[in-house]
Amino acid sequence: MKLYNSLSHSLETFAPIQEKKVTLYVCGITPYDTTHLGHAFTYISFDLLVRFLTYQGYAVQYTQNVTDINDRDNDILRRANEQHIPWQKLGAYWTERFLADMKALNWVMPTNYLYASKEISPMISLIEDIVKNGQGYIAQGGVYVDIEKVQNFGKLSKLSKADMLKIAKDFDEDLDNPNKRHPLDITLWRPSAPKQPSHIPSFDSPWSKGRPGWHIECSAMAISSLGEAIDIHGGGIDLIFPHHESEIAQSESATGKIPFAKYWVHTGTVYCGGEKMSKSLGNLILVADLLKKFSPNAIRWVLLSHHYREKWEYKEEEFQKAEETFGAVIENISAASAKKIDITDYETLATEMLSEDLNSPRLLEKIALSTTEKLSLEEARGLQAALRILGFYF
Ligand SMILES: [Zn+2]
Repeated sequence: MKLYNSLSHSLETFAPIQEKKVTLYVCGITPYDTTHLGHAFTYISFDLLVRFLTYQGYAVQYTQNVTDINDRDNDILRRANEQHIPWQKLGAYWTERFLADMKALNWVMPTNYLYASKEISPMISLIEDIVKNGQGYIAQGGVYVDIEKVQNFGKLSKLSKADMLKIAKDFDEDLDNPNKRHPLDITLWRPSAPKQPSHIPSFDSPWSKGRPGWHIECSAMAISSLGEAIDIHGGGIDLIFPHHESEIAQSESATGKIPFAKYWVHTGTVYCGGEKMSKSLGNLILVADLLKKFSPNAIRWVLLSHHYREKWEYKEEEFQKAEETFGAVIENISAASAKKIDITDYETLATEMLSEDLNSPRLLEKIALSTTEKLSLEEARGLQAALRILGFYF
């Protein structure tokens, strides 16, 4: 199959490191709010990738994480403090809500679903390796990656340092930390402040009581669960810098295995009212609300009718239309009977189209067109197989 690799900026023929085995890591949620359409688009896109690879006979090992703790004074901690509940409880609550929304969409649960707060020890050993190999340094209880010592820092995002600084600021990176040699150096371990409020957690480490950096979490969870070199690393396109760039720098510095991930796959952003969906703009379309109005199959149809790399705008009419189209496809399948001479082999069509960088929109167009014809039993069987590869249930 052909897959677009963000690292090479080109369509490549997919060839995993080991024959018939695929290791996949996808960056997961920060659990402090409800699942919105942007999350669903990312995770259903990777769900299709997992289903299609499995259909082709690959054994897929898939890890996804929950960032329930990191080095930021983040929304989980703030909100948990406001609600007078432990941060663990808030994180667990929103993670359960996310999983319930995704299961409703017939999402295949990853092989490993890891919580950052429970994976501190692989993070510490990875940080130790980075320091030992000369790319990391310790200062005042904190540990950092010296980006000047990292080979090809910026190879994924291909951004200038000036652009990196601008984006890093938006991501709340600790650019003015006086203990860093360079503002863009990556924080691996953040020491607790001397008078840190009691609602902020601290973990033991060889350097100080503190918290791991956001970026090292994913490096450590990917490596500890899947190995030092993985096949596919995925996530939303807005994670390319600083998150994924930092993951590459850390992982390759720690293990010496280059590349850390052979293919980088990024999903497009979903907009609403011309803006990226965000809590602060109040334009979130929640999956739970969509599920009250539309069937899971209609929602999945809309998500897969946009190519995974596309950036697109939410339109409610699309869901209504998808509901009707999916209903018509199923009705047509159950009406199949007559023998035909020219038969469309929908299962082969599905394989061909999904092999072209997961071209689910084109496949859905073909499937929708099937409703204009009377199907033979053979066609109906093939169509059912195609719908199953796409993750619909009926
Ligand atoms: Zn990540």
